[in-house]
Amino acid sequence: MIKKILIANRGEIACRVIKTAKIMGIATVAVYSEVDANALHVTQADEAVCIGPAPSKDSYLRGDLILQKAKELNVDAIHPGYGFLSENAQFAEACAEQGIIFIGPTIEAIKAMGSKSAAKQIMHQAGVPLVPGYHGDDQNPALIKQSANDMGYPVLLKATAGGGGKGMRQVWSEPEFDDALAAAKREAMSSFSDDKMLVEKYLTEPRHVEIQVFCDNHKNGVYLFERDCSIQRRHQKVIEEAPAPNMSEELRASMGEAALKAAFAINYSGAGTVEFLLDTDGSFYFMEMNTRLQVEHPVTEMITGEDLVEWQIRVANNETLPKTQSQLAIQGHSFEARIYAEDPNNDFLPATGILQLLKTPITNAKVRIDTGVEQGDEVSIYYDPMIAKLVVWDETREKALSRLETCLQHYAIGGVTTNIDYLRRIAGSMPFKQAQLTTDFIERHNDSIS
Ligand code: ADP
Repeated sequence: MIKKILIANRGEIACRVIKTAKIMGIATVAVYSEVDANALHVTQADEAVCIGPAPSKDSYLRGDLILQKAKELNVDAIHPGYGFLSENAQFAEACAEQGIIFIGPTIEAIKAMGSKSAAKQIMHQAGVPLVPGYHGDDQNPALIKQSANDMGYPVLLKATAGGGGKGMRQVWSEPEFDDALAAAKREAMSSFSDDKMLVEKYLTEPRHVEIQVFCDNHKNGVYLFERDCSIQRRHQKVIEEAPAPNMSEELRASMGEAALKAAFAINYSGAGTVEFLLDTDGSFYFMEMNTRLQVEHPVTEMITGEDLVEWQIRVANNETLPKTQSQLAIQGHSFEARIYAEDPNNDFLPATGILQLLKTPITNAKVRIDTGVEQGDEVSIYYDPMIAKLVVWDETREKALSRLETCLQHYAIGGVTTNIDYLRRIAGSMPFKQAQLTTDFIERHNDSIS
């Protein structure tokens, strides 16, 4: 039985895990860097231990040190949150060697999904639909170009080790191909120390629809429906919602089942997200699988009434899943808006400073704020500049959207530039109200929202 968890993360997700652990009567240990000594996650945990200086590579990415502290403090399990060590197979392996439960899937599953091209090969064999493309090991540029020519332009080049929208390039015609490949390779090398590329057909008006799956160690698996994450800026999610608007029950079930097929193909266990592109004609294609809890998991919690962190802990404890597929249902509609310290008037550069004023809407069963900061805290240069996730729920999309708009109006932050006005403009725009969701939404409606 897990009695004590160390959270190898910071900010809102560390606070989120602590909350559920407390409800379950599990003791918590926070880790923190020197600049985070007074952070919310540190004060909320039962124990806290410093793991080094501010830069992540010297603290939150120091798996060896974190494990050492976990041993010293008699921790049973480590929750990695998202980012940092959450998809690091080596860290998961080191935990196992030390007899500490890593709250996540098996090492094999993390490894299998860690490379976009290897993941695609596995999914292809399992019969999960893929975007047409080339994801082979042979990296001869002429071969990659030939596959692009064969499938026809536009195409998308992607770093197989990629993440966070980095190392991707659209190519609109053959003459642009060589330069685009070279540029994407350079970016991939500097971001991931790996310049292996894959190429796929570039879909011009897809939606990003992802399925939340959950499996236990006893061969059970369920899907907790979908999230529409089409509202993106430079391939990064800005506003997410669940369920995805205009989905037929048939499509929902077939995407859910395809996602489960993907999970079973790698003997999955725990929380996972299978990301699909949904094309205008209703075809959908596997993009990648994230082997961790996602930033946007709260919208799924709001429409299902389930606590996904509790599910993760139960699965890690070797219990069977709390619910079967037929016991799960969608109730109402939920949105999440990511509130960032960034400057929409200056190319969305991260902003820093002291949160002199932090006035938030009142939270209740329909309004949830996941955050790791309080008024007076500093947003530093060292970490992801997300200040909070504003999550709302209501019976219909229309009502939930109106609640989102009201809450954004009641959010006031002083001392640090934020994207709140920008989020308000997106939420208040006619195409968003009409659920005209495609991944190029922000580019397409740039004039009306910026
Ligand atoms: P990352 O891991 O870097 O986030 P993904 O493969 O998840 O990269 O893709 C991120 C986003 O890029 C998707 O949500 C989608 O908006 C866009 N995208 C990815 N593949 C394609 C494609 N084949 N056609 C059109 N857009 C795509």
